[in-house]
Amino acid sequence: MPSRVFDILRANRRRKPVCSCPVVTCTLEQMERVQASYPAAHKEAGAMAKLAEAAYKIVGFEGFRAPFDLCVEAEAFGCRIKPADGESPPSVFGPAFERWDEFFCPEDFFQKGRFPIVEGALRMLQSQYRDELPIYAGIAGPLTLASYLFGVEKVMKGMIKDPVAVGAILMKIAEFSGSYAQRLFAAGGNVLMLIDPTASGDLISAGIFQKFLLPAYQKIREIVPKPIVLHICGNTNRFLSFLPDSGFEGFSFEGPAVEVKSAKEAINQRMALVGNISTTDTLLFGDPAKVESEVKVALEQGIHIVAPSCGIPVRAPLENLRAMVEATEKYGMGE
Ligand SMILES: [Zn+2]
Repeated sequence: MPSRVFDILRANRRRKPVCSCPVVTCTLEQMERVQASYPAAHKEAGAMAKLAEAAYKIVGFEGFRAPFDLCVEAEAFGCRIKPADGESPPSVFGPAFERWDEFFCPEDFFQKGRFPIVEGALRMLQSQYRDELPIYAGIAGPLTLASYLFGVEKVMKGMIKDPVAVGAILMKIAEFSGSYAQRLFAAGGNVLMLIDPTASGDLISAGIFQKFLLPAYQKIREIVPKPIVLHICGNTNRFLSFLPDSGFEGFSFEGPAVEVKSAKEAINQRMALVGNISTTDTLLFGDPAKVESEVKVALEQGIHIVAPSCGIPVRAPLENLRAMVEATEKYGMGE
């Protein structure tokens, strides 16, 4: 029977909550157990699929997430990249473009960079698990990708000084992301995880969110007819109530900055709530008892999919991750 996650994302709020992790799941213990580690798991489809699979096979999370970094697209566009090591994924450290009109996506673009590796990993997961379990395909959100491509300062200043150009570039990026997402669905992903850390309320206002982000999200929605979960890091309280206008099925958010009860009130059943177990305080430095009590509170307040606040730290102990799964089963109520 297909995972409850799909029903929950289809707005069936009577379903029992489930522990499923659309943010990055990899830890050193999982790498060790499945013999697939960083940095190879960023560069080889087989290692990527194997390490993604560990989230289900070793931890017990419902489903898989790949890839494990946010710079696949930025890298192919020509951003400077700091390579991965044994504990950290690759990251962007220099923009690809100086001027807005330099943004260009050649026809054979998806043959370049690591796109074929990501598609290959999703294909392997799909061939083994079909659509019984969520296969979260992760891509960078439009503001995050724009900030990688042009530099965060240029984009942030541009939203004030050159709003027409920035609005237009965000729409072009959204179109690109929509077509990339379609490829990932064709390869085997069945839920899109759109990760937009630069859209954090710590960095942008509610006005900026409505003016620049919502239209870009709506463009992606228009192109992608499959389930989409949006993840934004940090404090998003000031624009929670606008999120459902994206048309996305789920919102993955960070606790304790965003409490489940505030998200529930603002979003009012229009999106599935995904989150918000603290990654550092609880999953990394806490113990199973602390995990259990935090999951219990999230469930009591109305979380639909129990997940970490953000990507899991690689040194988080396995027993804490398993405690998330057990506590969700123990305290979750529903069909
Ligand atoms: Zn995050």
